[in-house]
Amino acid sequence: METIQLNTSVIIIGAGPAGAGTSFFLTKYGIPHIVIEKDTFPRDKVCGDACSGKTALVINRANPEWLTEILADAKQFLPSWGITFVAPNGKALEIPFSPNRTPETKAPGFTVPRLVLDNFLFGKMQSEYCNIFQNASVSQIDNTGSMVTALMMHDGVNYEIKAPIIVGADGDKSIVRKKFLSESIAPKTYAIGLRGYYQGVTGLHKENYIELHFLPEMLPGYLWIFPLPNGMANVGVGILSERVRKKKINLREQMLYAIKNNPDIAPRFANATLTGKIQGWGLPLGMTRQPISGDNFILTGDAAALIDPFSGEGIGNALYSGMLAAAAIKEAQTPNNFSAGFLKTAYDDVFYKRIGEELQISAALQRLCKYSWLFNFVVNKAQKSASLRNTISCMFTDMDLREQLSKPSFYLKILMNR
Ligand SMILES: Cc1cc2nc3c(=O)[nH]c(=O)nc-3n(C[C@H](O)[C@H](O)[C@H](O)COP(=O)(O)OP(=O)(O)OC[C@H]3O[C@@H](n4cnc5c(N)ncnc54)[C@H](O)[C@@H]3O)c2cc1C
Repeated sequence: METIQLNTSVIIIGAGPAGAGTSFFLTKYGIPHIVIEKDTFPRDKVCGDACSGKTALVINRANPEWLTEILADAKQFLPSWGITFVAPNGKALEIPFSPNRTPETKAPGFTVPRLVLDNFLFGKMQSEYCNIFQNASVSQIDNTGSMVTALMMHDGVNYEIKAPIIVGADGDKSIVRKKFLSESIAPKTYAIGLRGYYQGVTGLHKENYIELHFLPEMLPGYLWIFPLPNGMANVGVGILSERVRKKKINLREQMLYAIKNNPDIAPRFANATLTGKIQGWGLPLGMTRQPISGDNFILTGDAAALIDPFSGEGIGNALYSGMLAAAAIKEAQTPNNFSAGFLKTAYDDVFYKRIGEELQISAALQRLCKYSWLFNFVVNKAQKSASLRNTISCMFTDMDLREQLSKPSFYLKILMNR
C-alpha cells in the first residue's frame, strides 16, 4: 500500500486541552503543525469538569473573544464563584474565589462537561496552520537524529510524517512519554479518580461553589460535588493509587457508600439519579520536578504529569504547558536547535519557574491533608474568624500566602489567634 509523506514544523499527538493549547499558540506564531488524534470529536474525557482561573487565562491569551464567548454562555459554561471545603469532622467552610468582588468582576472559574469544553477548544484549533487528523492511529514514532518520524494510519491510508519536533499531548497513557522517557525517570505519582453525572442533587450553593468533602476514609483524597449546567452535578472521588492498593479499597463502593450513608451527603441525594455510568481514569500528579522535554520532543499536560497534587486540577496546566511549549518551539526555530539542552532552558525551566512553586506547595498541602485533626482545626478556627477566611480566600490568587499553609508557623499563628 502507498505511504503518503508529509513534512511539517511540529507534530502534536493528542487534541485535548494540552494539544489545543499548543496548537493555538503555534497558530498565533504562524508555525505550521499537524495534530494526530485517536478519537473523533466531540469526545468525552473522565474529569470533574471544573475549570480554574488558569484555564480562563490561557484561553484569554489565545483569543480574548473566546473567553467572552464562554462567559456569555452560562447555559453551557456555569460560572462558579467559590469553593466549599468540608473537613473530616463534617464542618463546612465556604470560601469565595473573589473576596473583593465588584459588580464588574467576572466569575474566576466555571464548570462545563468535558464533552462540551474539549469540543469548544477543538473547534478553535481550526486554522490555516493546523492540519488535524482525527480517528487516526499512530503505529510508530522514531527519532532519527535531527528529525522525528510518526507513522500513522488514517482513513485506510498510511502516512509518514516528519518534523524536527514532536509534542506529546496524548494524556495519561502517552505513547510519546513512553517512547522518549520510559527508562530515564522515576515512576509518576498517581491518583485514581471516578466520576458520575447526577441529576437532582439538592443543597448546591446558589453561586455554584464547587464542593470538596475530605471524608476521613479518603484522606488525603476527597469526594467532590461540582454543580453543572441544567441541574446536573459532577460527583466523584479522587484518592492516591498507593492508598487504594495498600488498603485494598474498592473506590466505586466507597463513593456509593458515602452518597448513600454519609449524614451530610446522603439526604442531598435522596431524589438524585445517576445518568450514565460511573467511570474512572488516572491522574498523573506533578509532585516533583521531572524532565518534560528532550532531544526533539516536548511533553505537555497529563503526558508530562502536571496535575495539581492538592486540587486535582489538570486542565489549566495542560493548556498552560501547551502555551509554553509553543513559545519554546518558536524560540528553537531560528537557531534550528531542538536539542535536549536548548529545550530544557526554553521549556522545562520556564514552566517550572512559573508553575513549579505552585506544584510544590500543592504537594506539601496534599501531604498535610492526611492529618484529619489539622484539617478540622483550621476549619474550626476559620468558621469563627472572618480574617482567616479572607486569608484563605486570597490564597487562591496569592502564591506567597498559599505557601504559608505548608509552614508550621501558620498553624501556630492560628493557635495563638493572631
Ligand atoms: C476523575 C478525574 C477528575 C478530574 N477532575 C478535574 C477537574 O475537575 N478539573 C481539572 O482541571 N482537571 C481535572 N482532572 C484532570 C484533567 O482531566 C486532565 O489533567 C486533563 O484532561 C489533561 O489534558 P491533556 O490534554 O493533557 O490530556 P487529555 O485530556 O487526556 O487529552 C489527551 C488526548 O490525546 C488523545 N490521545 C491519547 N493517546 C493518543 C494516541 N496514541 N494517538 C493519538 N491521540 C491520542 C486522547 O484521545 C485525548 O483526546 C481530572 C482527572 C480525572 C481522571
